[in-house]
Amino acid sequence: MDVVVVGSGGAGMSAAIAAREAGASVLVVTKSALGASNTGRAQGGIQAAMGDDDSVDSHCRDTFAAGHEDARPELVRKLTSEGPDAIAWLSSIGVSFTRDEGRLRILRCGGASRPRLLQAGERTGAEMVKALRAGVRAAEAQVRESTALREMTPTASGWRLDLEGAGAGTVEAGAVVLAAGGGLRGEADRLGIGSTNHPDATPEVLELAMALGAVTEHLDSWQRHPTGSVWPEALAGYALPETTRSYGATLHDANGERFVDELAPRDVVADAIVRVVEDGRGVAAPNGLRGVWLDTAAIDREHGAGFTAARLAYVHNRYAKAGVDITRERVLVYPVLHYRNGGLLIDTHGATTLPGVFAAGEISGGVHGTNRLMGNSLLDTVVFGRTAGRAAAAAAR
Ligand SMILES: Cc1cc2nc3c(=O)[nH]c(=O)nc-3n(C[C@H](O)[C@H](O)[C@H](O)COP(=O)(O)OP(=O)(O)OC[C@H]3O[C@@H](n4cnc5c(N)ncnc54)[C@H](O)[C@@H]3O)c2cc1C
Repeated sequence: MDVVVVGSGGAGMSAAIAAREAGASVLVVTKSALGASNTGRAQGGIQAAMGDDDSVDSHCRDTFAAGHEDARPELVRKLTSEGPDAIAWLSSIGVSFTRDEGRLRILRCGGASRPRLLQAGERTGAEMVKALRAGVRAAEAQVRESTALREMTPTASGWRLDLEGAGAGTVEAGAVVLAAGGGLRGEADRLGIGSTNHPDATPEVLELAMALGAVTEHLDSWQRHPTGSVWPEALAGYALPETTRSYGATLHDANGERFVDELAPRDVVADAIVRVVEDGRGVAAPNGLRGVWLDTAAIDREHGAGFTAARLAYVHNRYAKAGVDITRERVLVYPVLHYRNGGLLIDTHGATTLPGVFAAGEISGGVHGTNRLMGNSLLDTVVFGRTAGRAAAAAAR
């Protein structure tokens, strides 16, 4: 096999398609079903400088600033400059981005100085997975589902991969793309705390690469999603998307006071919520957990009745099923573990420091510094996934 891709989220499937387009034989190995991933859970949207008053420079500056200037400048430049092309490619494979009267709907989200967030309905990640899955099948990449990478050994011509599960066995690869995600569900389970992540999001592939000597960057920088649901219990671990705040939902302590700019970068908002609760100004839920109020009813007060039901139908319905009408009631939120900012250090070709091993998406490090801007991760999976797929195909040759 020329290229083996490990993982089938946005990064893995983008890499597989690109490697096939470059003429390589490709095998995708993935822990459960093709496309089962954190990518499929993403709701908010994907960033790219597509607005009339926007520019790649502005996207680049915002990304670098939000990441506390800890990101690799060349990686940020690549991510942002290839944003519009990534959107065009996603559209070409069938992702239908939401339009209002013919024009792309573009929202402003936390940490962005301009409206820059594109959406494919309310579940952008699920739409991407649908299109990418069809793309992988159409490209005739081989796929082994319910199969996990267990071991990797260097050989004279590349790597030998030991696989376990339904497709267990040994595979020889000219080059490997690691796209197994950041593994924060595994970290959250170890710590006994909440996470937004898919059950497959465990860090063994990252750890395997590290054991082989791969260099990492900002590995222990973890992002919390500011607005994880505290109550009702049925929604534990669910995060209200950033767009809830983009549309005007506001955060309040137990006294009803606002305490942070709701559109500040994620770490700023999450830290402010934690501080409020630690200062004793939080609100206790019936299960004893504490949080702060997210006033979702402010959205319809600002935009008119019916706006939330139309624009945030998925969130609205999820809460309605749990007995809460978010257009009338406030909801209780607290930060939950969400995203690994760092990971395996890559260069602009997606190459790790291990020969013939490439990485893309949340498993990689250097793109987001120590705080990722919302919407930049889906973009990362496409830009660096495609890059890594092409580079792996070339390396295998
Ligand atoms: C609830 C939620 C909402 C989000 N919303 C947004 C958003 O609106 N915008 C945005 O930009 N980002 C968002 N994110 C972040 C973003 O979705 C992810 O960071 C990104 O999709 C990661 O893509 P990936 O391809 O790198 O990894 P993943 O999508 O996590 O895919 C990893 C793949 O690797 C597989 N795998 C894992 N271990 C192994 C193994 N040992 N062997 C084989 N396969 C393995 C998994 O099964 C999976 O298929 C959100 C994340 C979550 C959880």
